[in-house]
Amino acid sequence: MTTLVWFRNDLRTRDNPALFEACEVAGAGPVHAVYLVCDRQARDHGEGDPKLSFLRNTLEVLAADLERLGIPLHIRHAPMFADVAEVLSGLCTELDAQALYFNAEYPLNEARRDRAVADFCTGSGIACHRLHGDVVMPPGTVVKDDGGPYSVFTPFKRRWLDRASPAILKPLAAPTRRTAPAGTVNREALTALPEASPHPDWPAGEAAAQARLKNFVADNIAAYDDDRDIPAKPATSKLSAYLALGAISVRDCYTQALADQGPGGETWRSELIWREFYRHVIANYPHVSRGEAFKRETDRLPWRQDPDALDAWKAGETGYPLVDAGMRQLAQTGFMHNRLRMVTAMFLTKHLLIDWREGERHFMASLRDADFASNNGGWQWSASTGTDAAPYFRIFNPESQAKKFDAGNTFINDFIPELRDGTRSYPAPIVEHRAARERALAFFKSN
Ligand code: FAD
Repeated sequence: MTTLVWFRNDLRTRDNPALFEACEVAGAGPVHAVYLVCDRQARDHGEGDPKLSFLRNTLEVLAADLERLGIPLHIRHAPMFADVAEVLSGLCTELDAQALYFNAEYPLNEARRDRAVADFCTGSGIACHRLHGDVVMPPGTVVKDDGGPYSVFTPFKRRWLDRASPAILKPLAAPTRRTAPAGTVNREALTALPEASPHPDWPAGEAAAQARLKNFVADNIAAYDDDRDIPAKPATSKLSAYLALGAISVRDCYTQALADQGPGGETWRSELIWREFYRHVIANYPHVSRGEAFKRETDRLPWRQDPDALDAWKAGETGYPLVDAGMRQLAQTGFMHNRLRMVTAMFLTKHLLIDWREGERHFMASLRDADFASNNGGWQWSASTGTDAAPYFRIFNPESQAKKFDAGNTFINDFIPELRDGTRSYPAPIVEHRAARERALAFFKSN
């Protein structure tokens, strides 16, 4: 019996429940893998070249990793999710596959797509197995005493930690090598994704992600609690892009980080639980996937239309050095430090009173680690419209944030050369902090 494993945002061989079950539990027959390139759907979801080219490079590595395990990876084109069932059905017929394995994804369109695939499997007599590889604890397993979902992080985390038994936390091994089935594999569909030569700072694939995790745990995690807010320091793991594609599992990250029992390890593991929290939010509150605010009453807020200010923000030309340095880091590197994501997001939504969805879209298009749940969660937190969000009167002052987190202007100087060298003029602030703060307070209070 041929078994098919459908890879999505779980592009790894280790600790991959769908792959593991298909290989180690299902039986001895041939195992094939498939990745469907849904490029038009990804663009519809706002993902941009930084993420999609990293995806392409990651798929190349995954194909080679799977080949070594005797599992051919078929890469097929299914431009939209609506095309998925038909393409999968064709492949199942071609391979005479009788079982399909995949790991769940939680946003609304992905969940709908998976239901359609489960239906087609039922109709075709194919056994469909849905597992969970994108989280340590699947949505529905971390719930309040009354069985309802959490919308506040701290009690969610407490319950999450209560449930974190050694059995739940144990990562699965990569499957053992099998004899590769005969036949050729067509990977032409990869060309639907943007090409990018491998980036020295962002080597793609599972081995690179594992190496990054090991180095982080060995060298940086102990100081994480002290240094994680200083963008000039290489204090954070930079694993987000790998986690977003599933080149490494969050469970592996969590478990390996248990090696540090000090405040650094504890705080870092807590960030991984934030990631879980936002995935549960997406799964439990589908309206969030429809572009609506988590707190529905905040959808009445009359956000300002100000294309010039939005453009200045995107270009890193607001006249606030820390905001601009963050936005330029994003444009130049496809990454932005977490502190700066909060500072720039609050600036857009509070100082400029521009709809958080504009910022969410821009980040989705620009980030290598673009991830709907974490990005939406971060934006709604900053805009005070989300679960457990910053209260509306919490408005970062970009100048005091710069003094506190970039005291020697090290980071700012890196990204704003005109401030460092005086070679060209730097814009005056597009809004005055005090006045903008007052305007934001009045806006949130009266709407
Ligand atoms: P580390 O500090 O090393 O943290 C380890 C991992 O924990 C991260 O890789 C990430 O997977 C997770 N994590 C850390 N902080 C958060 C958080 N606040 N929420 C959820 N997960 C977290 N993260 C994304 O992965 N993709 C996004 O599209 C994204 N958009 C964001 C938008 C805004 C407005 C904000 C405020 C935050 C956003 N984040 C997003 C969360 C966070 O900024 C990044 O995960 C982090 O900066 C990535 O760097 P790192 O891997 O070095 O993180």
